[in-house]
Amino acid sequence: AAKEDVHRRIKVFEPMMLYSRQLRRETARELRRAVLDEELFLEYQPVVDLESGRLQGVEALVRWNHPRRGVVMPDDFIPLAEETGLIVGIGRWVMRAALEQLERWRPLLASEEDFLLRVNLAALELQSLDLVDFVRDSLRATGTKPGELVLEITESALLSGGDVETYSLRSLQALGVGLEIDDFGTGYSSISYLRRLPVDTVKVDRSLIADIAGDDGQLRFVDAVHNLIRAAGLEAVFEGIETAEQAEQLRKMGCCSGQGYYFSRPIPASQITVLLQEGRTLPEAPVVLPEAAV
Ligand code: C2E
Ligand code: MG
Ligand code: MG
Ligand code: MG
Repeated sequence: AAKEDVHRRIKVFEPMMLYSRQLRRETARELRRAVLDEELFLEYQPVVDLESGRLQGVEALVRWNHPRRGVVMPDDFIPLAEETGLIVGIGRWVMRAALEQLERWRPLLASEEDFLLRVNLAALELQSLDLVDFVRDSLRATGTKPGELVLEITESALLSGGDVETYSLRSLQALGVGLEIDDFGTGYSSISYLRRLPVDTVKVDRSLIADIAGDDGQLRFVDAVHNLIRAAGLEAVFEGIETAEQAEQLRKMGCCSGQGYYFSRPIPASQITVLLQEGRTLPEAPVVLPEAAV
């Protein structure tokens, strides 16, 4: 592990120190082209009913198939996209592609608004004056009901609190689109906004549940967070569920929705299609843990 660490550090350290500016400029140029050249693609991670394992929907997650570097993950280009403003174009591509995919899944869906499509929205997108028009037009163009779309927005983006952001949020809510606080518990904000913001759901960050299986104190804390969310009249979704134990603890708390590697990693649309076609529940097969693991 130590060896890996050193490796990783050198790989990141060197270019950052020596070529940071140049590299960033070049990457920004490539990213600008990526949308036009269709180098971006989406994967979808299932959100499941913790009780039954039934698919409640998916979160669309963008990836960049770079011609030389291979697949680049969002943490390695979304920040740059935000700084350069490219996120607005990328976000629009994501929204359209995801809605079109939802319509391709349509014949496989049980009923309307039974399957939710989640799309991440960056702070800068909320500041864009025509976001609401764009979302409305996209829904109309694809024939998607507003209630089938949930926009995931981080705490910091939600709380930037400018006039345009507030207008965007209120208008999106009036349109009937679902709004969700993403990565809840990682910001530094006051909890009073849970009752003030026009949101419907809260996605609890994975850092909060990482230790619940082995730490009673943390378990009680997460239980309290869950109750707080419910007391604010909101629904909770737990992300980053990696083990059967975590899923079980959350289920015992009465939590209904979850997402994480335990159920499924983000996967191509074609694999979601198979899950829907066969009406499968997740995780695919019960994970049998050996008696004395480790
Ligand atoms: P996020 O919205 O919080 O998405 C969840 C991230 O956690 C995804 O990483 C997902 O693959 C990962 N994840 C899911 N389950 C587990 C788990 O059990 N364990 C662990 N360790 N990780 C898990 P990904 O796809 O690399 O995306 C990272 C972040 O990039 C996202 O975090 C989101 O903030 C951003 N992002 C991704 N796609 C978009 C997009 O289309 N637009 C915008 N604005 N941001 C995006
Ligand atoms: Mg998200
Ligand atoms: Mg998140
Ligand atoms: Mg995150």
